Amino acid sequence: MVYDVAVIGAGVVGGLIARELSRYRLSIVIVERSHDVAMGTTKANSAIVHAGYDAECGSLKAKLNVEGSRMMEGLCKKLGVKYIRNGSLVVAYRTQDMERVQELYERGQKNGVEGLEILDSKALHQMEPSLSETACGALFAPTGAIVCPYELNVAAVGNAMDNGADLLLDWEVTAIAAEQDGYILHSGGNSVKARYVVNAAGVYADHIAAMVGDTSFTIHPRKGQYMLLDHDCVGTVRHTLFNVPNELGKGILVTPTVDQNMLLGPTAEDQEDREDTSITAEGLQKVQENARKVVPTINLRGVITAFAGLRAVGNTGDFIIESPRHGFWNVAGIESPGLSSAPAIAVYVVECLESQGLSLPPKDDFVEERRAPHRFNTLSMEEKNRVIQENPLYGHVICRCESITEGEIVDAIRQNPGARDLDGVKRRTRAGMGRCQGGFCGPMVTEILARELGIPLEQVTKFGGSSYLNVGKTRGGADA
Ligand SMILES: Cc1cc2nc3c(=O)[nH]c(=O)nc-3n(C[C@H](O)[C@H](O)[C@H](O)COP(=O)(O)OP(=O)(O)OC[C@H]3O[C@@H](n4cnc5c(N)ncnc54)[C@H](O)[C@@H]3O)c2cc1C
Repeated sequence: MVYDVAVIGAGVVGGLIARELSRYRLSIVIVERSHDVAMGTTKANSAIVHAGYDAECGSLKAKLNVEGSRMMEGLCKKLGVKYIRNGSLVVAYRTQDMERVQELYERGQKNGVEGLEILDSKALHQMEPSLSETACGALFAPTGAIVCPYELNVAAVGNAMDNGADLLLDWEVTAIAAEQDGYILHSGGNSVKARYVVNAAGVYADHIAAMVGDTSFTIHPRKGQYMLLDHDCVGTVRHTLFNVPNELGKGILVTPTVDQNMLLGPTAEDQEDREDTSITAEGLQKVQENARKVVPTINLRGVITAFAGLRAVGNTGDFIIESPRHGFWNVAGIESPGLSSAPAIAVYVVECLESQGLSLPPKDDFVEERRAPHRFNTLSMEEKNRVIQENPLYGHVICRCESITEGEIVDAIRQNPGARDLDGVKRRTRAGMGRCQGGFCGPMVTEILARELGIPLEQVTKFGGSSYLNVGKTRGGADA
């Protein structure tokens, strides 16, 4: 079979492009090297929907950020994804930094960001009482928001699949052959052919481009480390708090998350390795120190985990959405604000494909909406009783920290794209995301995965590959 379009990379960008394409009568395949979707940069970032005052006027970043931010709330509603418009503040701690606040304000106006305001110290502290006393003013962006990036990623790919797109996992593109009427993507001994190809491969986008002879850009990874605080710390701040970028850097942000945690970070560390997402004592120390400067009373004893993500930094300073040869599109260098821009990037890329002759006959039966999964802990008592009557598995709590039920875990395994490992369940349901980080529920989730996937316990993995959780049975018969 020859697909109309192949999308390389099932991150939030590839996922939303595939979803946008699935509005039309097209055959689409998404190929992904990992065991699951949302395993690249989309899995670990600040989860902010940036308002759009930061990017250079006239850049693709500025245009797509502002458009994406406008689209995000509606999109999340349709896809059943958590989104909160909490507003963001870019805070100055020195009077000379207020000039930069003014610049950002003016840039934001030019970029088309609505509702921007400059606040003095009094107005700022009224809005955020726990901010450091040294904060002397800020840019307030009421359209700034927070979202769950991996939830959006799963829902985007899932919605594309519900509308007919195919997803091939554990399918790493290792070579591409250009033919007269399209491209053959190779992965080991397997191949797929498509008339058009979208390269949304994140930190590997330059490697993919080089496979068709395009070496016009490079990507290098920039690590960002984070600390996550438990629910009892939420309420410390309501808005996303950025520092004014100055000669000392961008500083560390402090923000609530859509799941009522607090997130502190990220660092910015250039590195060569495109896989190394390790955290370091040094990095976390920096995160803590900087977060304390923003909110001196922050309860760092509430930290439940730390993690890192890799920015795909391009050498052009802007998003690279270009076609080096007919039918092949790079969607590369999608560093921050890539998540915020992703809905607009998707629409833009579809227009680009159309400009090269891809015809877009609308699909009469396109299903635009996706039912949000039951989130048991957010239901009223009446609703809880109703869903338990529908399915008693919703009455069996597996993850005690986050109150996640067996019903939700089974849904996550059976949905499109279904969870196939422990981390996949975690990203889809939050089982294992709480204070004990899966220490209690991990073995039970493993059993549910084995049962639902029809595989032995020993074959259940944490994140695919050889990340097995059990090695066999002890002499007494219990699983080890
Ligand atoms: C520290 C940090 C903070 C950030 N904060 C924000 C923020 O607050 N707001 C915001 O808007 N943006 C933010 N971003 C940026 C945002 O996370 C990214 O722009 C976005 O997630 C990029 O999505 P993507 O789909 O392009 O890349 P990815 O999610 O990396 O997806 C690319 C996919 O391609 C796959 N792939 C790679 N090579 C191959 C191959 N050969 N074959 C098949 N598949 C392949 C990968 O496995 C991966 O799944 C941040 C990024 C970082 C790192």
